[in-house]
Amino acid sequence: MDVQWILVCHGCLTLLVLVSFLCGQWPIFQNTFIEKIHYFLTVGAYDYFLRFMSYVFGSKGRNAILSVEYFCCDRPNPTLQAFYLAIIGGTYYIIAVTSFDYIPGYYLSESHRYTSFLAVGVGVVLFLLTSFSEPGTVNAENVTQYLSAYPYDNIIFTEKQCTTCKIPKPARSKHCSICDRCVARFDHHCGWMNNCIGEKNTRYFMAFLLWHFLLCVYGTIAIVLILAGQLKEFKVIHILTVYYGFENSFFSLAPHVVQWVLGAYNTQILLMVFLAVISLLLAGFFGYHAHLCITNTTTNETFKWKDYISLKMKINEAKVSAAALKARISGMTGETKPPESKWKAFFRKSPLEDVEVIVKDNIYDKGFFSNLNEIAFPLSTRRSFLVSKSD
Ligand SMILES: [Zn+2]
Ligand SMILES: [Zn+2]
Repeated sequence: MDVQWILVCHGCLTLLVLVSFLCGQWPIFQNTFIEKIHYFLTVGAYDYFLRFMSYVFGSKGRNAILSVEYFCCDRPNPTLQAFYLAIIGGTYYIIAVTSFDYIPGYYLSESHRYTSFLAVGVGVVLFLLTSFSEPGTVNAENVTQYLSAYPYDNIIFTEKQCTTCKIPKPARSKHCSICDRCVARFDHHCGWMNNCIGEKNTRYFMAFLLWHFLLCVYGTIAIVLILAGQLKEFKVIHILTVYYGFENSFFSLAPHVVQWVLGAYNTQILLMVFLAVISLLLAGFFGYHAHLCITNTTTNETFKWKDYISLKMKINEAKVSAAALKARISGMTGETKPPESKWKAFFRKSPLEDVEVIVKDNIYDKGFFSNLNEIAFPLSTRRSFLVSKSD
């Protein structure tokens, strides 16, 4: 098999595994092989491994694996943080070793040796900022201020107490079982950051996502420009048209140019595909979180709204069905109506179509600019929050 086909297969396989692992649970992949691969990678493979261990080593082997799982998934631990640093450091190192020889090139100035380092440095700083910043822990001292800053909507948040912290639970907060604390405006616990994403560090988290998306786009474009510069410097197009007599058109030249690039710069191609795939995934993730920020919702609340809407819909459906049944029974016992024509019965609406649609009435959504302002300047960092302390 030619080297370029091995590279193409490798790229496709990497893309398939990454997309399945990270996005396989999305509704668009429902009942597809991508969902099956996602299940295998996230649950199935581990399940088989656990069964294999208990088959070979008995309950001791199984318990050892379960305690490792508890340490890795249910307790704060820096495994994924180290993994992130290894990925970003490793990728930058490989790029520096394999591609910095081509800088400065025909299309890239020498300054990119330094700006790339600076860009990676800013990325790591944002990572550290998100990882080690205070997410907005609710405790006995500040709970009163949090209660007044985040009023209950009495829809998805009602007055409650945290059974672990033994303090009232302000609206939008959640007790993180991994960090063992209540966090205000809780979004999610991020394993990569080994920290909760809450009201105070959502801004750093968003900056982290946006910066890493731009960083991957920068890397992809820089490699494209390196390769384009090499084509120019080696006069590849000229050689192909003059010496080999290929027609000077895009379609006749493209396959030969691709073949030359794949043969001579396979490491750069691999890096470029890797960065492009990661940038697409980051774009999706950033887009999802940006939508949440703009509508002043959190990941935690999207689940609550989903549960609330499906419960309300079921109740309404049951009410409408009961009313329809009651009407039919009273029709049977009361006056006999003339029989309905078949056509009329065919076009008559199902009683379930009368079910009232539940709308998401998010009282925390105060408009585009106000919502973004709340991310950049969290309520607990404002003067009004501190003033209520002295009340
Ligand atoms: Zn708590
Ligand atoms: Zn947490």
